[in-house]
Amino acid sequence: MSTDCIFCQIASGAVPTDKVFEDDQVVVFKDLNPQAPIHLLVIPKKHITTLEFAEPEDAALLGKLVYTAKEVAQEQGLEAAGYRLVMNVGEQAGQTVMHIHLHILAGRELRWPPG
Ligand code: AMP
Ligand code: ZN
Repeated sequence: MSTDCIFCQIASGAVPTDKVFEDDQVVVFKDLNPQAPIHLLVIPKKHITTLEFAEPEDAALLGKLVYTAKEVAQEQGLEAAGYRLVMNVGEQAGQTVMHIHLHILAGRELRWPPG
């Protein structure tokens, strides 16, 4: 837990958010500035700044982020039309919040490659 980290505050419940799923390890909530009709963020409760700082013992937790995204996507019926998972790693990739997170984007045509 990092007290000045907005996602740690969301994970602990100190900052209210629109949560769609939570268990002892992860939280899924709606992005404040959605880039698609459905834009969710999957975060671990553990503070890891970015993928670059993940340790070998975090491997299962990283897998859990992806599996949780799959379960939430399925629950919301996103798999029929398809959805995109994105993890921005570092500044040039567009990471703005330094607490590792996976974006779930859906509900519109998503171009490839991203701009
Ligand atoms: P990234 O650019 O990959 O670091 O993504 C960070 C995302 O977090 C952006 O899409 C923001 O809109 C979103 N975000 C930042 N603060 C909040 C918040 N308090 N609640 C929900 N989403 C947030
Ligand atoms: Zn954090």
